[in-house]
Amino acid sequence: MIFNGIDFDTYFKNYPDANGYFGKYGGVYISDELKAAMAEITEAYFTICKSRKFIAELRRIRKEFQGRPTPISHLERLSGAIGNVQLYCKREDLNHSGAHKLNHCMGEALLAKYMGKKKIIAETGAGQHGVALATAAAYFGLECDIYMGSVDIKKQAPNVARMKILGANVVEVTDGLQTLKEAVDAAFAAYAREYKDCIYCIGSVLGPHPFPMMVRDFQSIVGIEAREQFLDMTGELPDIITACVGGGSNSAGFFYGFLNDPVKIYGVEPLGRGPKLGDHAASLTYGTEGVMHGFNSIMLKDENGEPAPVYSVASGLDYPSSGPEHAFLHDLGRVTYDTVSDEEAIRAFFALSRYEGIIPAVESSHAVAHAIRLAKQMKTGSILINLSGRGDKDMDYVIEKYGIPAKDADLL
Ligand SMILES: *Cc1c(COP(=O)(O)O)cnc(C)c1O
Repeated sequence: MIFNGIDFDTYFKNYPDANGYFGKYGGVYISDELKAAMAEITEAYFTICKSRKFIAELRRIRKEFQGRPTPISHLERLSGAIGNVQLYCKREDLNHSGAHKLNHCMGEALLAKYMGKKKIIAETGAGQHGVALATAAAYFGLECDIYMGSVDIKKQAPNVARMKILGANVVEVTDGLQTLKEAVDAAFAAYAREYKDCIYCIGSVLGPHPFPMMVRDFQSIVGIEAREQFLDMTGELPDIITACVGGGSNSAGFFYGFLNDPVKIYGVEPLGRGPKLGDHAASLTYGTEGVMHGFNSIMLKDENGEPAPVYSVASGLDYPSSGPEHAFLHDLGRVTYDTVSDEEAIRAFFALSRYEGIIPAVESSHAVAHAIRLAKQMKTGSILINLSGRGDKDMDYVIEKYGIPAKDADLL
C-alpha cells in the first residue's frame, strides 16, 4: 500500500535506514565511546535476527514462559451498551508479568546472553520496566542493576519489592529531583563505565539506534498475532486500531501488523489535566523537533529547550517525547495521534472493569477511552484496542483519588 509517497510493502526494509533514521528522526546522539557500544549491539542484533537458533529460542520462550499468543477478546457488553460498533481488545494484560513490556525485555536479555554479557542495566520511573527486566534477568541468570530516583523508590514500593524478590539490584539515585530524568542520566553514566560487561536495555522505542528498531521488532509479535487472530475471528480486518503512546513500544509493535493494510490507525497520548505545558505528556500533539536521551524526535521543551516537566495519571505515559518512528508516522499522516485526559481514562478504567471483567492499566485505559469516544461517533464498524497491561498496580491509587463510581451508565 502506498501512502503519501511511502510504499508500505517495503517500509520495514527501508526504515530505519543504516544510520538509524526514520526520515529525519532517530540517529545516535551520544559520546563516541557509547556510539561504539551501540554499534556492537547493532551488529549482534543483525546477526541474531537472521539466526534460526535465536528465533527458535525466542519463539519457545514466548510460548512456554510468557504464555503467548495472548488472545483477542470481543467486548460484547461494552459494545452493546454504546451502540452498534464492535469493540475488541488484544490482551497484553495476559502476557506474563501483566504487560507488553516483557516482550522486548526477553529479547534484549536473550541478546545480552548471546553477546556474552553478564549483566543488564536500565533505569525505571514507575518501576514497570524495572520489573519486566528483572523478570528477564532472573530467567536467563543475568545480573541486573536498575537505576531509580529516591522519590520514585518511595512512591513505587510494590514494584521495588518485586524487583528485589526477583534478584535485581535497585540502585538509588539521589541527584536533582530524584526521579526518572536523573535515573536515565545515572544509568547512561553506569553504562559508559561498564559497557564491556553489560548492555543497557532501553524500556521503549526510544534512545539511540538500534533501540527504536530493535524494541519495535521485539514488540511486533503483538501486531502480527493480532492481525491473524482478528481475521480468524471475524473474517475481516478491523476498521480502526488504537493504542496508547508513552515512549511508544506497545503501539509500535501493534501498528507493525497493520501499517500496510487499509486500516485507520490511532495513537493516543495522555492529556493529563489539560493542554497547558506541564499538565500533560502529549509530546507528538504539542511538541517540536529536538534531541534528547540520544535521539532526534518530537519533544516537549521548556523555555531553555530542555525536556519539559510532564504529567499524566498514568506514570507509564509521562515521558516528554516519543520514539522517532512515531514522529515519522505522525508527519507522514499514516498514524493519527489524538489525546485522552486523566478523567476520560479513569472513566474507561471503570467501564472496562464493570462491563467486561477486565481491569486495565491506566495507561491502557487511555486507548479504551479513545475507542469508546470513536464508537459513539460511528454508526457501524469495528475497533481493535491494544490493551497494553493489567491494572492491579493502579487499583489502590485510583480508588483513593477517584473513589468507586455509583452507576455504570455514567461511565459511557
Ligand atoms: C510502560 C507502559 C506503557 C507505555 O509504554 P509504551 O512504550 O508507550 O508502550 C503502556 N502501558 C503499560 C501497561 C505500560 O506498563
